[in-house]
Amino acid sequence: ANDEVLASLRGVHKRYGALQALAGVDLDLHAGQVLALLGPNGAGKTTTIGLLLGLLRADAGQVRLFGQDPQQVAARRGIGVMLQDAALPPTLKVGELLRLTASYYPAPRPLAESAALAGIEDLLERPYGRLSGGQQRRVQFAIALCGRPRLLFLDEPTVGLDLPARQRLWATVRMLAGEGAAVVLTTHYLEEAGHLADRVCVLLRGRIVSDGSVDALRARVETRRIRCICA
Ligand code: ATP
Repeated sequence: ANDEVLASLRGVHKRYGALQALAGVDLDLHAGQVLALLGPNGAGKTTTIGLLLGLLRADAGQVRLFGQDPQQVAARRGIGVMLQDAALPPTLKVGELLRLTASYYPAPRPLAESAALAGIEDLLERPYGRLSGGQQRRVQFAIALCGRPRLLFLDEPTVGLDLPARQRLWATVRMLAGEGAAVVLTTHYLEEAGHLADRVCVLLRGRIVSDGSVDALRARVETRRIRCICA
């Protein structure tokens, strides 16, 4: 990790009607750093990512992506995204999906490389809709890598993956961070954060209640000062 901040939230508030989803969140995403956002259902993890992606607008506070407003399309060129419930066209073959995605970027990663990084070399000729949930998840990961993102958002990336696929994703994420990418992942699992993250932020009812190393968080969990994170 280095000191370069690729994206940030400053005093961000977001509500949905009467529901306060984020209540004053400060967060910096550093180049080369894997950050895990941990927290129970409804804590505000997906909302945080949605704001950074420019899919949502903050009610108050400032959100920056590569120094710009995330709602500017240009700011989004450097990101790769793997969201929950990604709806991709079921009849397209995996290879076609990857080619289509790569065509949006000026300097895409070669298709074979994205496929290898996600372990889907053997799925390229298969229609997306015919794959198992875990296979679809791996394809979504490959799609997130197509544009050589400097900032990678992974929303519960390993749900539905078996252990070898999970370990492979972890290894790829570590490698990309080693090359200088910033990675943000949400997870319900402290164990996963432990394998992957340099830093863990715990969100609880729209506030960051803990921000530090995985070991520091483990110590706090063991002393039961934080009990609610492993939903
Ligand atoms: P999960 O682990 O279930 O994905 P999360 O930490 O990602 O949870 P968010 O999805 O950010 O949490 O949701 C924060 C709160 O805002 C929740 O109470 C949720 O029900 C609510 N919420 C999220 N999106 C909307 C919306 N579009 N309209 C109304 N309420 C919403």
